[in-house]
Amino acid sequence: MRQYYLDYNATCPQLPEVGQVMEDVARTAFGNPSSLHWAGRNARKKLDDARDGIGAYFQVDSGSVVFTSGGTESNNMVIQGIMANAEQGHIVLSAIEHPSVLQAVEYWAKRYKSWSYTLIKPDADGRVSVDDFSAAITEDTKLVCLMWANNETGVIQPVHELAEVCRDRKVPLLVDAVQALGKIDVNLKTLNADFVSFSAHKVGGPRGVGVLIVRRGLQLDSLLIGGGQERGRRSGTENVAGAAGFAQALGKLDYSKVAVLRDDFEIKLKNAISDVSIFGQAYERTGNTSMFCIPGLEGETLLMQMDLAGFAVASGSACSSGKRDPSHVLMAMGVPEFQSRSSLRLSFGTEHNEEVNDILVSTLQNIRERLKRMGGR
Ligand code: PLP
Repeated sequence: MRQYYLDYNATCPQLPEVGQVMEDVARTAFGNPSSLHWAGRNARKKLDDARDGIGAYFQVDSGSVVFTSGGTESNNMVIQGIMANAEQGHIVLSAIEHPSVLQAVEYWAKRYKSWSYTLIKPDADGRVSVDDFSAAITEDTKLVCLMWANNETGVIQPVHELAEVCRDRKVPLLVDAVQALGKIDVNLKTLNADFVSFSAHKVGGPRGVGVLIVRRGLQLDSLLIGGGQERGRRSGTENVAGAAGFAQALGKLDYSKVAVLRDDFEIKLKNAISDVSIFGQAYERTGNTSMFCIPGLEGETLLMQMDLAGFAVASGSACSSGKRDPSHVLMAMGVPEFQSRSSLRLSFGTEHNEEVNDILVSTLQNIRERLKRMGGR
C-alpha cells in the first residue's frame, strides 16, 4: 500500500544533508564547547558558526541566539523567566497559542497566585484583533504572547502590528514563530518582538533542537540552573551537532510553494463533499495547511480510517488524561464542540502533488459513504 505523510506541521523528515553535517560535527568536534583545550575549541568553533549562520538567517545579532531543546523549551523559558522574576503581574495571550505557551501560563498562574492572565479569543475565522490585545494590556502587564502562525488552522496572526503596540506600551512580546518558519518570511529585522521561538524539526532539521531569539540587552532568568552556558541564559552542555544541523536546514524547505496545491485540494474537497467546513479561509494562511470538518464524522474515527488507507494526518483534538478534548483552537473560534471534535488537519510537504489531492479526496469521500452506511460514526 502506498503511504502518504501529510502531517508536516507535527514534524517532517530530516533532510539528508542535515544528517551528514551532524554526523561530521559529532565525529570531528566532539569536545565540550566550554573546555579550554583544542577539542573544546573545535566544538566551540562549530557552535559559533551555527550561531552566526542562524543569526544571519533571521537577520539578528548572533549574540541574541540562545540554543534550546525546541519550541516548547523556548516558550517556557520566557514565560517562567518573566514570572519568576517579579512578585506579581499580568500576562495577555491569545486563546489559540500552542500548549507550550497556554498551559505554561495557566500552570504558573495557578502556583504564583499574585499573577493573572487574560486570554484573547480570535474571530470566527481564527485571527485575533490587535485592538483586543491593546485593550487588555494594563499597567500590571509584564508579558504579551502571540504566535506568528497557528499550527492547526495555519492562520497568520498580526504580530507586526502587535509588536508596535507592545513597544508603545513598553511591554515585552513573545512571538512563537515555530509554524511560521519555512512558510512565510520570518525576517526579524522588521519584527519588533522581544522574544521569538523557533524549532528545527519543522523545517527538516533535527528533533529536540530550537532557538530563542532574545532582544539585545534584555535580561531573562534561566529555566535551567547550572553551568551558565549560553551566557547564563540556558545552562547545560550545548548540543553542538544539533545546532549545526539546524543552521544547515534553514532556507532549504519552502512550504509557501505548496499553497497552490493546498487550494486545489480544498476546491476539490468542496466539490466532492459540499457540506464540508474549511477553517481560516478568510485570512492568509501558511501555504501547506488545511483544517476542515466533515459533518457527522468523528475526527478520531476519520483519522484512523485515513491511516488504514495509508494517510498520516492529524485531528484537531488533543489527548488529555485518556480522553479526547476538542480542539481548543476551534473552540476559541466559536466552532460548536461536535464540529471541533470532527476536525481533521492536513499539512502538506514540499513534494506534494495534484495526483495525491485526487486520491485524498476520493478516499475521504469513500470513507464518509462507508461510515454513513454503517450508521454515521
Ligand atoms: N509552538 C508551535 C506553534 C508548535 O506547533 C510546536 C510544535 O508542534 C511547538 C511550539 C513546540 O515545538 P517543539 O516540538 O520543538 O517543542
